[in-house]
Amino acid sequence: MSPTAVTTPLRDYRGRFAPSPSGPLHFGSLVAAVGSYLDAKANQGKWLVRIEDIDTTRVIKNADSDILNTLQAYALYWDESIIYQTQRLPLYQDITHSLLKQNLVYGCTCTRKKIKAIGGIYQGHCKALNHNTQSSALRLAQQHPTTQFNDLIQGNVEVDSALAHEDYLIKRSDGLFAYQLVVVVDDIDQGINRIVRGADLIEPTARQISLFKQLNSPVPEFAHLPLAVTKPGFKLSKQNYAPAISQQNPKPALVSAFKFLGLPVIADLIDLNIEQLIDWGIKNFSLKQVPQASEIQISQHPTS
Ligand SMILES: [Zn+2]
Repeated sequence: MSPTAVTTPLRDYRGRFAPSPSGPLHFGSLVAAVGSYLDAKANQGKWLVRIEDIDTTRVIKNADSDILNTLQAYALYWDESIIYQTQRLPLYQDITHSLLKQNLVYGCTCTRKKIKAIGGIYQGHCKALNHNTQSSALRLAQQHPTTQFNDLIQGNVEVDSALAHEDYLIKRSDGLFAYQLVVVVDDIDQGINRIVRGADLIEPTARQISLFKQLNSPVPEFAHLPLAVTKPGFKLSKQNYAPAISQQNPKPALVSAFKFLGLPVIADLIDLNIEQLIDWGIKNFSLKQVPQASEIQISQHPTS
């Protein structure tokens, strides 16, 4: 990888944190929240929060309000109204209609199993079969393959050519809009121009860049933070029962997140209150200090 490239500060920076309400925030998601917040505020930017509840099969009741309470307990305050994806289905439908009208989308009836059997990359099997687009999954015919991009932390990222050229799903066979579609539509709609998030989302970034281009929108800058892992390849996640971070005693986890992000943490920081800690973080944060790694192992759960 090439050395990290950090550009001049953005004008009218608009960033975001976009959790899915599938459980409480854990240390891994705190790192993404803090990293995106500090970078936005260090650049006099706005920081938005979006609840990514498009995959309703994964939504846990009240997880959204729990996440928002946790953000406030960590003095991470959002600048505009919270957006919920499930309240925006007409917008996603409009975009899908317009892509359909341009003949850029086709119905696909292939199962995940079938695609896996041919190597995991979709080969356009249904492209000329004219499946009913009302009742089948929808794929976008790839017009803007993205084979590399610059990441503000990870440097130049090369993308597998077959993956870059793949026609990917924008609507699933169960009728739900795909994450790939809605995340880009939302980022465009909210005017997001820098995306700071975990490196687990580095692979779908190339598709998202393609979709920004397809929708004639400026491509935001991307900065992918290292993931917190318990052992190589095992990220902290709701799926593997990473413990929730404390709302009552936020300082230890926040200081651990600062350390994780490469901030020059000093011993007496813990004497500050939570608002002062965040202010210190804003003054001392730089993307240049964030380790250029896709993951960092944490020896034990850092909030304990
Ligand atoms: Zn197909």
